This record gives sequence, structure tokens and C-alpha cells, in this order.
Amino acid sequence: MPIKKYVIGVDLGGTKIFTALADQKGRILSEIVLSTDASKGQVFVINIIKQSIVQVLESAGKTISQIKAIGIGAPGPVLSKQGVIVNPPNLPGWKAVPLAGILRKAFKVPVYLENDANAAAVGEMKFGAAQGAKNFLYVTVSTGIGGGIVIDGKVYGGSNGSAGEIGHTIIEPTGEMCGCGRRGCFEIMASGRALVRYGKEFLGKELQPIEIEQLAKKGDPGALKAIDRLAYYLAIGLGNQINTLSPELLVIGGGLSYELFKRICTSRKFKRM
Ligand SMILES: [Zn+2]
Repeated sequence: MPIKKYVIGVDLGGTKIFTALADQKGRILSEIVLSTDASKGQVFVINIIKQSIVQVLESAGKTISQIKAIGIGAPGPVLSKQGVIVNPPNLPGWKAVPLAGILRKAFKVPVYLENDANAAAVGEMKFGAAQGAKNFLYVTVSTGIGGGIVIDGKVYGGSNGSAGEIGHTIIEPTGEMCGCGRRGCFEIMASGRALVRYGKEFLGKELQPIEIEQLAKKGDPGALKAIDRLAYYLAIGLGNQINTLSPELLVIGGGLSYELFKRICTSRKFKRM
């Protein structure tokens, strides 16, 4: 029997799937990024996840029999104990999908599912920007917006494990319609998708966040307006959370923050002064 000393982590996003194979100290041996192509539906996306797992095993020269467990971070709401993805606005058509069970059956190893922002909060606490912090808020700013609330060193799950859905708190009641069915949610006003929308409004064409950022750096007035609008709504949404939780630290991660801040670890920390 080979010793099971490696783990695989999958970050299932609305736009990209990041998969990595690591040893038990958290050192990454191989990683891959694939497009989610969420519009092609859940069967397609689940196949991409499986493919990414096979690829990280191959490129690290490991076999599934050496894997202790697979952990998946998925957009909320997630029922983590049951391993079920409920109905995330960023994965259209997904309703009560038992993703952990499906992958457990396919790979015959233990599979754990967690809300992506909660998983990231734990990651930042163990290896990243929140080391040593006991009360902090992790916010992922990506295709959507999610929150991981850590109180006294533990992720706060609420009554059913789905607390921290800060992306669906309303910050502009007459704002854009959100995938959750309400208007003006934090996520629809301040995520990567929101920046694309503001870019369209102020630049007259659909550009990706990275392109808007590059134009803004050159001083393009339309791009600067788009980023200002995003920053305005980010500040309202984050300010509400700071007033609710009084965290000692706010950690911002996720794809959009990565593109805007260009940090390999994808997180920045803001300490309360
Ligand atoms: Zn919403």
C-alpha cells in the first residue's frame, strides 16, 4: 500500500477552475487552471474538474492511491456536511448537486466540499495573510463576491453552514438584477462582472477586468471611472461588514483582486489602525 501523503485542492469558480496537488505541509507540487465554461452545464463542468485532477496527478508523477483526500472550494451556498452545492448564481442550472459524492465515486478517495470563501479563510489562517489572526473576515472578489467569517479562530457557519454570504447583501436597492433574484446585491455591484459592466458603460465596449486595469494605468478617463465606480461599491459593502463584525483584519482575495493588485498569493491584508 502506498503511503497516502498528498492532497488535492480544487477551487471551482464561475470562470476558472484552479486545481493543485500538495504535500501535507501545503507545498504545491503541481497545479493547473482550466476554464469553467459554466454555460455548458454541470455535466461538462464536472468532467473538467475530473480532468484537472487527473492532470495534476500526472504532472506531479503521483497516482490517486497516494492521495489522502480531495478538498473542493465551491461558490455558495454550499451544504458542506452533505457535500452538496445548493444553487450558486455563478453556476447556472446547478441545483442541489452532490459534487463530493460524485467525485468520491469517481476517484474512491474521501472528498470534502466547502464554501470557497470559507476554505480560503482557513487557507489564509494556516498559510497566508491571516496567520496569527483570530477574528477576521476573508472576502473573495472574483466573478462573484463571497465571505468567510472567522470568529475566535474558527469559521463561523451559522445554523446550517451557509453564513457569510455577504455577496448577497443589498447595497443598492434599485441596482442591477442579481443571479439570486434580488436587486443591487454587493456581488452584482462590486465583482468582476460588475467591472465589465462599468467598462461597457464608460468605454463603450465589453472589456475584461485586466484590460480595464491596463487602460486605467495609462490614465484612460473611462477606465478610471469604471474602477472608481467599482471601488465606491466595494467600499460600501466592505464598510457594512466591518461595522457588523469589527474584525481585526480584512483579507481580500479572489481573481479580480489578483488582476487588480497583481499579487501571486492573491490576497492583501488591511489591518485596522
Ligand atoms: Zn444576489
